[in-house]
Amino acid sequence: MPDTTAVIVGAGHCGLAMSHCLAARSVDHVVLERGQVANSWRTGRWDSLRLLTPNWMTRLPGYAYRGTDPDGYLSAPEVRAMLEDYADTSGAPVLTGTTVTSVRAAGDGYVVRTDQGIWRAPAVVLACGAATLPAVPPLARLVPDGITSVTPAGYRNPGELPRGGVLVVGASASGVQLADELHRSGRPVTLAVGEHVRVPRTYRARDILWWLDASGVLDQRYDEAGDLARARNVPSMQLVGSPGRTVDLNVLSAAGVRLAGRLAGIAGGVAQFSGSLPNVCALADLKLGRLLNTIDAWAGGTGERFAPTVVRSAPLGLDLRSGEISTIVWATGYRPDLSWLDVPVLDRRGRIRHDGGVTACPGLYLIGLPFLRRRKSSLIDGAAADAAELTRHLAGHLDALAGRRMRSAS
Ligand SMILES: Cc1cc2nc3c(=O)[nH]c(=O)nc-3n(C[C@H](O)[C@H](O)[C@H](O)COP(=O)(O)OP(=O)(O)OC[C@H]3O[C@@H](n4cnc5c(N)ncnc54)[C@H](O)[C@@H]3O)c2cc1C
Repeated sequence: MPDTTAVIVGAGHCGLAMSHCLAARSVDHVVLERGQVANSWRTGRWDSLRLLTPNWMTRLPGYAYRGTDPDGYLSAPEVRAMLEDYADTSGAPVLTGTTVTSVRAAGDGYVVRTDQGIWRAPAVVLACGAATLPAVPPLARLVPDGITSVTPAGYRNPGELPRGGVLVVGASASGVQLADELHRSGRPVTLAVGEHVRVPRTYRARDILWWLDASGVLDQRYDEAGDLARARNVPSMQLVGSPGRTVDLNVLSAAGVRLAGRLAGIAGGVAQFSGSLPNVCALADLKLGRLLNTIDAWAGGTGERFAPTVVRSAPLGLDLRSGEISTIVWATGYRPDLSWLDVPVLDRRGRIRHDGGVTACPGLYLIGLPFLRRRKSSLIDGAAADAAELTRHLAGHLDALAGRRMRSAS
């Protein structure tokens, strides 16, 4: 059984960022990856996807974007290449093709079982992704036979879907991008809209993410958030990685996408939509206004304001047996997969309990979850600060462990 000081599970950007920080402190470690480096960007992204964060925001510990297009947006293959390069230049000790099948507490540390052997280490960092599994609502099982169901993780391009109408459920970043792409492919698209975060791509002549970064909005800390549980569940922003292009509900409905309320149920083959669409849109407009006010208060002056979301008559029902809809895209979010974790840190719903990535089990950490330590924790740009703080904590834990061992030996 090989020993190391820390095992990192996952070689996405978070695992590699942790590896970089641990190496800087000379903490011996290994990164175990079930696929290859940047596996999610190889296996779980659709063809046309581009980051919605601009290239200058693609920053990791010891790495900054050096290309010729700082205001562009990387494609998934470009993210993959960037992370491979980062792993190489950092000399990250990644073992690919190694699936972790259990992590169990043993003595002062953990036993990490994999399909390639067993590791023992006093510290384990779970960097295995917040978006490992699609979060499809239970009502999906009521969809009548004959309708194709896909999730953004499995969808690649419009050509792979059957002809005919599409119901896209969910209007966050993935939902609005896929509704837009499928509508452009010539399909009639209905978009079921629940709570969403409306933002313009450009504000006061700059990318909205420039403002969120510069004004400190993305740096807001988890221990300063009023309602952390809610902040951790805020949907992703309605953005697409295309310079100057806003894809909000007004843009989509003007192009011909039909808007409906949140998908509330399916009964007898009929999809039932909530009647709350006008309220949900009014709330998103209100929050957009508040965000722009925050930016203006920081920058001084006042920028442009955007027309309220226009809600025309929205359907309350859609007969899924009529042949009008051939595909449903469940753009309803993602969830982590920690089913292999044999350490008592999960709540009744299988979510991990933690304080900014520090679990109640000494030496067990996690990174990469929404608002883990900051509003930007789930973004590539959020990994540097989180990894630095978690590494400090982990090093403190190792020091305390070494002190205890020395005292008990003397
Ligand atoms: C559609 C989409 C678009 C996004 N766009 C942006 C964007 O524009 N800008 C931005 O900053 N962020 C974006 N993100 C958010 C975030 O950057 C990505 O989700 C990113 O992939 C998360 O990195 P990670 O390292 O936390 O997890 P991942 O990249 O998912 O890496 C986790 C790794 O762990 C491995 N793993 C999992 N389980 C095991 C196991 N049991 N044993 C061994 N290995 C395991 C996986 O194979 C994977 O390689 C986007 C996310 C999604 C889903």
